[in-house]
Amino acid sequence: MMDHFPIFLDLKGRFCLVVGAGAVAARKVDLLLKAGAKVTVVAPELPSRAITDLIAAKRIAHVAEAFAPSHLKGHILAVAATNHRAVNAAVSRAAQELGIPVNVVDDPLLSSFIVPAIVDRAPITIAISSDGVAPVLARLLRARIEAAIPLSVGRLAELAARLRKLVRRRLPDLTRRRRFWEDVFEGRIGALVLAGRDDEAEALLARELARAEREAAQGEVALVGAGPGDPDLLTFGALRLLQSADVIVHDRLVSLEILDLARREAERIDVGKGRGKSTSQDDINTVMVRLARAGKRVVRLKGGDPFMFGRGGEELEALAAEGIAVRIVPGITAAAGCAAYAGIPLTHRDHAHACVFVSGHRREGAEEPDWATLAKPDHTIVIYMGLATLAETASRLVAHGLSAATPAAAIENGTRPDQRVVAGTLATLPELAVASGLTAPTLIIVGSVVALRDVAARPEDSIEIAAPDKRGSAVA
Ligand code: SAH
Repeated sequence: MMDHFPIFLDLKGRFCLVVGAGAVAARKVDLLLKAGAKVTVVAPELPSRAITDLIAAKRIAHVAEAFAPSHLKGHILAVAATNHRAVNAAVSRAAQELGIPVNVVDDPLLSSFIVPAIVDRAPITIAISSDGVAPVLARLLRARIEAAIPLSVGRLAELAARLRKLVRRRLPDLTRRRRFWEDVFEGRIGALVLAGRDDEAEALLARELARAEREAAQGEVALVGAGPGDPDLLTFGALRLLQSADVIVHDRLVSLEILDLARREAERIDVGKGRGKSTSQDDINTVMVRLARAGKRVVRLKGGDPFMFGRGGEELEALAAEGIAVRIVPGITAAAGCAAYAGIPLTHRDHAHACVFVSGHRREGAEEPDWATLAKPDHTIVIYMGLATLAETASRLVAHGLSAATPAAAIENGTRPDQRVVAGTLATLPELAVASGLTAPTLIIVGSVVALRDVAARPEDSIEIAAPDKRGSAVA
């Protein structure tokens, strides 16, 4: 628990009382004056040299009397810095009765507030507190921070203060503005300011601001691969974009656990292209263009990899045609994810020298795949969207020369907690799939590598596969 609540008080023009006039009191007076306070010093004895000077220069008021509670009148803050514990205690009591925050130097028990160790890089102020229990440690930390933060960091903050209004006007979008300032402080511009090359820094900043403004006007969309379902398979890039997105336009394939990782304030638009409720590709494109133009940070989140049977290519074309910048973040495609979680190596020197990815779904009237080329015993064939046409595909492959005994597997909800693997052969898989009631998304893998799954699956073998606890139960 925090014993003290850190705040920064605005003391400009406010009256503060300091009781005592020795060297310690003088340091406190100095600090208060730096913050713009009007200081009254109460001390019956002859003030120290530093305080005498301030009195002479009329920078502080002096009451040459022993402390009395009435001295607190009109003051909003009190500091007791005398050598007399009884006096300090009296100041503390009187102030607290009046609800005036009071600090007794080096006496946390008598204080209602403590003064932190300070690193002063105006307008940056870093305050360090040990809750009064280890002031020496706090001072050591301060020394380290002093050493780590260049003296000129204040100038960086001054630059920001000078340009804040301008940048706010030209980059009204909060996220863009935040990113702009991050780039300024951490990039080349910050380095130039710290090196004292302010003119160069400002010229560069003007150029960067114009660029950011252009980008905001034109918009940007990130086409991001979400992987097959397990959030562990998300890339760092995808995660970063999800956490800074304004809007996430996602498919039905994207799992809830992954959507949960997105920035909470981000708007979510489900354009799931399932049977029943779905949004046409043209409508999806229109939505993305509109959002990007409005200056939103749009993440188009797609299952697996955006360029693998995901219409990422079509969306890229549509966005580019509207002059919108597109960034692509690849994802783990279903073939890689399902194969790993089902224990099936897609290539193997003894079994498969090539692996082809085909779609089982065809547009109306589209040509069939070149089965003769695909149907090779030393190929692994991965079929996306192939559940509905599985029987037809299996018979085509056999007709073009593959043995009906070629191992084949169907993986439903691959990499997800409810993953199911149904394994058989080209002859048996279509019926097994129906009998098991498999539904989308299901990936089909055909080839002798599928038989290796038994090796990985044998319980007496201690071969670890990607996520043993996530393996579905094999039917057949
Ligand atoms: N871009 C995606 C594929 C989109 S096509 C990717 O790279 O994975 C949709 C097809 O992908 C589904 O019909 C199914 O065959 C496959 N698929 C996607 N995710 C899957 C998953 N978690 N388990 C099984 N198959 C999946």
